[in-house]
Amino acid sequence: SYRKGGYHAVRVGDSFAAGRYIAQQKLGWGQFSTVWLAYDTQSSKYVALKIQKSAPQFAQAALHEIEILCAIADGDPSNEKSVVRLVDHFKHVGPNGQHLCMVLEFLGDSLLRLIKYNRYKGLQLDKVREICKCILTALDYLHEKLGIIHTDLKPENILLCNTINPSKDPIRSGMTPILERPEGNPNGGVSMSSIEKKLKQRARRAIARISERRASMGGVGVVPKPARCLDGIDLRCKVVDFGNACWADRPIAEEIQTRQYRAPEVILQSGYSFAADMWSFACTAFELATGEMMFAPKNGQGFSEDEDHLALMMELLGKMPRKVATGGARSKDYFDRYGDLKRIRRLKYGSLDRLLVDKYKFSDADAREFAGFLRPIFDFEPEKRPTAKQCLQHPWLNTVNQAHGELKSESSDEKVNVGMNNLQIKLRK
Ligand code: ATP
Ligand code: MG
Ligand code: MG
Repeated sequence: SYRKGGYHAVRVGDSFAAGRYIAQQKLGWGQFSTVWLAYDTQSSKYVALKIQKSAPQFAQAALHEIEILCAIADGDPSNEKSVVRLVDHFKHVGPNGQHLCMVLEFLGDSLLRLIKYNRYKGLQLDKVREICKCILTALDYLHEKLGIIHTDLKPENILLCNTINPSKDPIRSGMTPILERPEGNPNGGVSMSSIEKKLKQRARRAIARISERRASMGGVGVVPKPARCLDGIDLRCKVVDFGNACWADRPIAEEIQTRQYRAPEVILQSGYSFAADMWSFACTAFELATGEMMFAPKNGQGFSEDEDHLALMMELLGKMPRKVATGGARSKDYFDRYGDLKRIRRLKYGSLDRLLVDKYKFSDADAREFAGFLRPIFDFEPEKRPTAKQCLQHPWLNTVNQAHGELKSESSDEKVNVGMNNLQIKLRK
């Protein structure tokens, strides 16, 4: 993809915007861009530099993303809404064409990385709560104040405000910025670290081979690794990647969202709005708490991925109301006129709190409370799902987990109408 119309090749020490930003190291990449840690010589701060591919369709997408990011920044001057901040944008001409560049505030690892780091065991509920509050703050702002639907909410697109590994955090580790391209090294200083990487890789492979051999000799030494401790890490985060976001009154695409986080109304093509983000939010919250995706559909013999997805939803959440099942442009492909799936006939019904207890070993109280928070968001009827603002009011977000899994509310004895299915919840002292 490093050709005309594609990515712009960057070397450590390269400068951008007439010398203002200097590339330090690659942070990541996507289908549209590469993202570099850069040093801003004007503010003396690190920033993330997103360099878009140059072909017209990518430039178009970048302009759209910049428009959305500008609206986000304008509406939140004090930068407190848990959404990534656009600092600057400009054009950069290179051998592959003209690239639109976005300068974003520098953020840390994604929630997907955090889940992996925690060995897919699920985070402590107190941590999940903190992250949920951030995401909901962002969604409430985007939905209520700006009228924007993110349309691709998932752990990968939510970044922590710091990195999990302090030695890799240029700010916390006090890294000195590189101000020019390292001399005598045509590759811009990458060769040393790539040798190091290769050595580390080789060592890792050797260790893997040894433990494989041990496993084949009767499993000696293959103890499952415990979850890592995240105590003391402040888990604030921000929503990123507005490349697919749209204004609710101007939806751009029919099919939105990444498969596993896709809402039923999107699959059935019954029209979508803000509530589609809420569905993805609930899938994300479940994944944070359990380490596994809420729905991981696969196609099979005689049924498609969409049909498996709908079946998985109903097995966990109950049968879809007939008028919802039959109300979308694509309903006839999947459902008969009674609202039963045409090609997957026998469903194994369960419930969210049973799943949390049986499979993920939650205590009864934890499962009940967490499912009580999530379940209303997983309403098949998008109009009935609580809004981000209503979710922020939910008692589950305002409780602290006790040592014995008992739940205690921070608020005192009062009745709170959380606005979810007219549910009245009495808070305990
Ligand atoms: P996609 O194919 O997901 O649409 P994209 O080309 O639009 O990708 P992003 O998802 O915005 O690019 O960014 C790609 C990666 O770069 C992210 O997954 C993340 O690892 C890193 N990244 C993006 N923004 C930042 C930031 N502000 N701070 C630190 N890293 C970032
Ligand atoms: Mg992305
Ligand atoms: Mg994108």
